[in-house]
Amino acid sequence: MSRTPIIAANWKMNMGPQEAKEFLSAFKEEKLCECKGVEKVIVPPFVTIPAVMEALNGCQCIGVGAQDVSDHDNGAFTGEISTAMLSEIGCKYVVVGHSERRQYHGETNTYINKKIKKALAAGLVPIYCIGETLAQREAGELEKILRSQVEEGLAGLSDEQVAGLVIAYEPVWAIGTGKTASATDAQAAHAFIRSVVKETFGTDAADKVRIQYGGSVKPANASELMACPDIDGALVGGAALKAASFAAIIRAAAI
Ligand code: PEP
Repeated sequence: MSRTPIIAANWKMNMGPQEAKEFLSAFKEEKLCECKGVEKVIVPPFVTIPAVMEALNGCQCIGVGAQDVSDHDNGAFTGEISTAMLSEIGCKYVVVGHSERRQYHGETNTYINKKIKKALAAGLVPIYCIGETLAQREAGELEKILRSQVEEGLAGLSDEQVAGLVIAYEPVWAIGTGKTASATDAQAAHAFIRSVVKETFGTDAADKVRIQYGGSVKPANASELMACPDIDGALVGGAALKAASFAAIIRAAAI
């Protein structure tokens, strides 16, 4: 089964509108629209999304996503942003359950599951982040944690819905630390995640769902990771803040 790799830039709380415009003018110089066979996504902070849309000027070769979304439709939820608002400004993707949201905002699998359902109902593609902490890995709990994140986070979804979403496997100890999972360890985790998807949602969903790797991906390690059979792209933080390094990672996935 061939799956189109997806490379997404998670800018986190970096890049205001002006910086984003400068990034995009450098990024355009990389001529990545000619780089076929890889889906490219930029995930800016909410307030930067309109500036990114404007700078893309209708260019369809890069999708835009948001870093989070509310589990409610509208109303008295101060500070929240709804799926309809994201769709209205042209977002196609939304990251949900990032480990920083789990860690600093207490997000649980059950809560994230509600956001995934809202995203799917609005036609957005969820990028559902999962991954173990170092303590969990060292305690031998890797598979238990990944299984619960897949089963609880995707509970109640149809096989077709799961086939169309993106899972980002991001070992928490590898995010922003410069430590990357070895290609062997990452492939093993991805294969396990796919096997759990298969048990619950069937072979077709398991074959189609794309599983990105995230955690200190950079141009130097991208090719080796992207060559693994169950790794279908990357969610990139730090290395996606510079147009040239983000472009190099995209090229590594396209080969
Ligand atoms: C992330 O935030 O999703 C991430 C993977 O960050 P970094 O690439 O900086 O480790």
